[in-house]
Amino acid sequence: MSASDRHGRPLGVLRLSLTARCNLACPYCLPDGTEPPGLLSQEQRLALVGAAVALGARSLRLTGGEPLLHPGLERLIAACAPLRRAAATAGNPEGSGTPERPGLTEIALTSNGALLTAERARALRAAGLDRITLSLDGTSGASVAAMAGLAGGAAAGEALLAKVLAAIGHARAAGFDPARGALKLNAVIQQGHNDDQLLPLAALARREGLELRLIEYMDVGNRNGWRPEAVLSAAAMVERIGSQWPLEPLGRAAHGTAARWRYRDGGGPGGPDGPGGGERLAVVASVSAPFCGDCNRLRVTADGIAYTCLFAAPESGLDLRPWLQPDTPPGALEAALAERWSLRDDRWSEERQAGWRPSAEAGAPRHAEMAYLGG
Ligand code: SAM
Ligand code: SF4
Repeated sequence: MSASDRHGRPLGVLRLSLTARCNLACPYCLPDGTEPPGLLSQEQRLALVGAAVALGARSLRLTGGEPLLHPGLERLIAACAPLRRAAATAGNPEGSGTPERPGLTEIALTSNGALLTAERARALRAAGLDRITLSLDGTSGASVAAMAGLAGGAAAGEALLAKVLAAIGHARAAGFDPARGALKLNAVIQQGHNDDQLLPLAALARREGLELRLIEYMDVGNRNGWRPEAVLSAAAMVERIGSQWPLEPLGRAAHGTAARWRYRDGGGPGGPDGPGGGERLAVVASVSAPFCGDCNRLRVTADGIAYTCLFAAPESGLDLRPWLQPDTPPGALEAALAERWSLRDDRWSEERQAGWRPSAEAGAPRHAEMAYLGG
């Protein structure tokens, strides 16, 4: 069974939030300090991933909040293995021949990296994690502290920066190879806050052989006080970086969030034959150049609420827990999800671009918070 929404968009990616909590307090995100009541159990999460895969999801991204705070992370990843093996063995016990039913093709994680020790990176790899994206919004102690909402100023920022740089090394050593896209760096850029970090971040990523993904500051949630003036457009980011290191466009893959660019000089110190993905730059332009048209992402919160858009209103979510009970008949969860997906009409970023502005009379639309929704 595959699902298609009102705009003909298939379901392709499940972004599953494992916790609404975080060990950081980035002002552009501002997570809750506590979990919502009624967190899903491991069995319920697994049932949910299975249902999404049955409806066409091929990619699972584990996120939060900070997913490394979740003690069952490795267990969940390992337990997803049969959902992948479906690709090789469905309808064929010997595991050879043409698969009848495709399964999960990748499991990815987004993390701030502060808790990614060498041991944890190895455990994640051993459990079957394919890709890690680490988030870092600056290269100076002061900017890292400000962007992560750390009390303690530059010294606290330096300490976090050191942890994230170490995490990059741990992930690489554990086998997350940037050259195969298995290790990348995310950075949110806010005009007037950390736009001076653009070139230093690009230099760091080139040096480390990592693809840097620059994310426009988005109007997710209500707490971050988003203003259009604080958005530095992806085009402006590309122009600034390109004036230092000329770039050529690679385009945006179907259903992808990022438009990719290639450094004409080949990237890091080793050039095209260097250490990894540092020859590429990516920009996520969800404010200035929305990509709602082929968005295939379903989000489910740590307490089992399904959202079909990153900018969804809190009350628009569907509580999946009634279909995640021990006595739920087989197929009922898939049917509920398929129905929800078939009604999906969201194209918030395109609507925003078409002229929506908050007004005192109408009141600004309310969005569910990013860390709850699963970024
Ligand atoms: N805690 C993890 C992390 O920071 O990587 C995972 C969750 S976080 C919500 C996922 C991604 O969303 C991060 O890369 C973060 O920088 C990004 N993000 C959060 N709030 C954002 C906003 N208002 N605009 C753009 N990106 C944002
Ligand atoms: Fe935490 Fe990630 Fe949100 Fe920063 S962006 S507060 S690290 S969940």
